[in-house]
Amino acid sequence: MRKSGGLFFTIAAIAITLIIWGNPLNYILTAFAPPSEPVRPSIFSLSTPGLSIDAGALMAHVRSLPQPRNSPSSKEAARQYITSRLADYGIQAERQAYGIEQERLTGVASGVNIVANIPGSDPTAGSIVLGAHYDTEIGSPGADDNGSAIATLLETARIFSTQADSQSDVLAAAADPLTAPKSIRLVFFDQEERQIDGSGLLGSLAFTQQPGNIADIKGAIILDMIGYACHDPGCQAYPPRLPIPNLPNTGDFLAVLGLTGQTDLNQTDLDQTDSDHADLLGAFAFSAQRIGPTLLTLPVPQSMLNFFPDLLRSDHAPFWDKNIPAVLVSDTANFRNPHYHTAQDKPDTLDSIFLQGSAQHVVNAIAALISQSG
Ligand SMILES: [Zn+2]
Repeated sequence: MRKSGGLFFTIAAIAITLIIWGNPLNYILTAFAPPSEPVRPSIFSLSTPGLSIDAGALMAHVRSLPQPRNSPSSKEAARQYITSRLADYGIQAERQAYGIEQERLTGVASGVNIVANIPGSDPTAGSIVLGAHYDTEIGSPGADDNGSAIATLLETARIFSTQADSQSDVLAAAADPLTAPKSIRLVFFDQEERQIDGSGLLGSLAFTQQPGNIADIKGAIILDMIGYACHDPGCQAYPPRLPIPNLPNTGDFLAVLGLTGQTDLNQTDLDQTDSDHADLLGAFAFSAQRIGPTLLTLPVPQSMLNFFPDLLRSDHAPFWDKNIPAVLVSDTANFRNPHYHTAQDKPDTLDSIFLQGSAQHVVNAIAALISQSG
């Protein structure tokens, strides 16, 4: 997660408060109205043995990734770890290098994204992207930022890989992407963090600028820091001067930020695009009813983005820019985790139970989304 001026979580905190307690500010309440048509639950999306996250495997991935991951050699070691684990699950990964010409001209380093497809049963049904950056801030081990998310992508790969064929459970077999219509596209982004020239999000920008990458995407779930929780009163911080009373002061929820309302004036099919955004949020909202941690879906009106540019802090922003429905899933980063972007962002600081719950929410949401044929 890139550094912020704080406005992102000003909006997020307002939305959280509205969702939890309601709020007399009716105009804001209208603006943040939840999606009216949550995604219809899939029979195999929840509490299915074959879809269970392995908490031990998650933490093993977090510990095994190189720390930090900001030099050419450490990033290459991270890429090799990722592609090796995917190969273990029978998934072939593609390396997408970008920015080579720019590096020659400007000196800004090039990068490498890793893309892996888990095909569904219907090649025309489209794909759901699950994406996260694997690079770190200089000097930070990046356990929460963003090892927690990379571990979740790898566990998602294991669960939905063709090895699901061996599951004897009927429902688990039904969740095999070979029988679900949509594909899953795992994307491990390079260079999300700030570069020497002040730029960032370079990997997700490069990915979304390739038409072949995005032609069939129906929705994108972007993870950035999903493994830190705090339970002592006062440990969850908020921006100063927030005009909302009774904010939650413990950090035991997972935030899902999405768009609602008019999405783009150039879009010819506004209603369809809007409902796709609602489907993403709805998939998480449904999961939230079953398995912890508490999960807060935050629908943000498109019109607010002009006033709150810090809503665009992570790899979901390039997808929104391309009018692709996308959500950002996060533990709220620096407003909760005191180790954010420091040398202390180590595996032992993560809450493994919280991370397991976060990852399970992601798997549940994906299971529901890939089961939809439309
Ligand atoms: Zn970061």
